[in-house]
Amino acid sequence: MASSSPVKPEAGSVECDLLIRNGYVVSLDADRRIFPNGAVAVGRGLIVGVGTDREISGRFRPRTVLDARGSAVHPGFVDAHVHVTQHSTRGAFPDNLGFGNFTPYYTYWWNTVDDEDEYAGTLLACLEMVRNGITCFMEAGGVLEPNAAAAAVEAVGVRASLGDPLLWDVGQHAMATADHAVIKRAPPDRQRALKLLGSQLWRNRNADSLVRGHVALFGVGSASDELERAAKACADEHHAVLSQHQSFKSDDVAGDDARFGRHPLLHFAEAGVLGPNCAFTHMNIIRDDEVAAVTESKMSLIWCPAGSMNWGVGATSRGRMPELYQQGSNVALGSDSAKFGTTPQGVFAYLLARDRGGAQLGVEDVLEMSTLGGARAMGLQEQIGSLEPGKRADIVVRSADVPEAHPRLNPVQNLILAARSKSVDTVIIDGRIVVKGGHSTLLDEEAVYQRFRESTERILQRLGIRPDSKWPVIE
Ligand SMILES: [Zn+2]
Repeated sequence: MASSSPVKPEAGSVECDLLIRNGYVVSLDADRRIFPNGAVAVGRGLIVGVGTDREISGRFRPRTVLDARGSAVHPGFVDAHVHVTQHSTRGAFPDNLGFGNFTPYYTYWWNTVDDEDEYAGTLLACLEMVRNGITCFMEAGGVLEPNAAAAAVEAVGVRASLGDPLLWDVGQHAMATADHAVIKRAPPDRQRALKLLGSQLWRNRNADSLVRGHVALFGVGSASDELERAAKACADEHHAVLSQHQSFKSDDVAGDDARFGRHPLLHFAEAGVLGPNCAFTHMNIIRDDEVAAVTESKMSLIWCPAGSMNWGVGATSRGRMPELYQQGSNVALGSDSAKFGTTPQGVFAYLLARDRGGAQLGVEDVLEMSTLGGARAMGLQEQIGSLEPGKRADIVVRSADVPEAHPRLNPVQNLILAARSKSVDTVIIDGRIVVKGGHSTLLDEEAVYQRFRESTERILQRLGIRPDSKWPVIE
């Protein structure tokens, strides 16, 4: 993209690497300022200026100029819960099974994947993320070989935090305990879990690293009190985040109620394992007496609206996310499984809130959850989540060349509800352009697809399954 430059840099202007001009800049700063004719200056991987195009163009002498042509410029989205290696399950398993019959497929899958499969899957998932405007993600604690995932993350150039590799030691979770369903490389084993807690935190020693680490338990009833306490202590000691699945649907919540003799969030609060560095995913079922435990702990809630709807959670619980968010809890969004794509979840959250009645969400709310909320859940609120001087330059520049971006009466509504991922043009992460014209600048995308298809084919052969088709397939 080129730009004519009607505004000349002023005397005394400073050099910068990149200047994004003529954007509808949605800053997400403390005052939520929007600059309809705005500019963002980037230098050494950081945002160095945000404001009106006239002001910023006068202050900086850029090496490169990017003309946003009036389209939206916003902080990159954060996907706060992704099973980043599991894209090869997409379309592989039957789609019409109940949850109990479905989860063993994942165990079979975990029992066959190798490091190359995890690398190829993560590569595809990360490519999908950046092309959809997601610049940072938190891995769900479901990767068997985090080093394989980390290599793929770096190749795509996305920001990430990786969790511990499937830690659990007791429990009711079908994937952890059913006789036919033990994951061989990650059995429910207290010694193994205690030994591996915090195994990814070494990545945080380098403050500039794109790939960070957090403490992760698998959760949903699969951790003893001893393991839960050890995980929280490990996270506290290293100023890290603790993530786990929690209170997903009626079955795991009933199991927790029975083993604790009370509702799980109450139990966790009394055990001292909740705090601002906790980021628990799903939290679809929160009873009245658990609300104070959630709000007073200042923990983050990672809402996966597609997963909630997919498993019919609304049949037994209306959910409280919009209400808790409006009461001040931090809510982030996660895509969870690959089934619906590693895409921003804002439109799902918006629609789910409306469908269930109760507290409603505006497009601004879901944009906050998708950016600031995710950053806060990952403990990265000082680094990312908004376009402000001093923050890392993780920026999405939209295209004006999609019908869904018009009219420009409310560009935030357009990008959350109508254009969604289709209008992503340029994606900048840590000051580096990783997507341009909608495509990766760092990778041969066709080679990524080929490598992933080959990996998936090998997995299917090892499992001895072929994807179902309800309709006749003519070869
Ligand atoms: Zn998950």
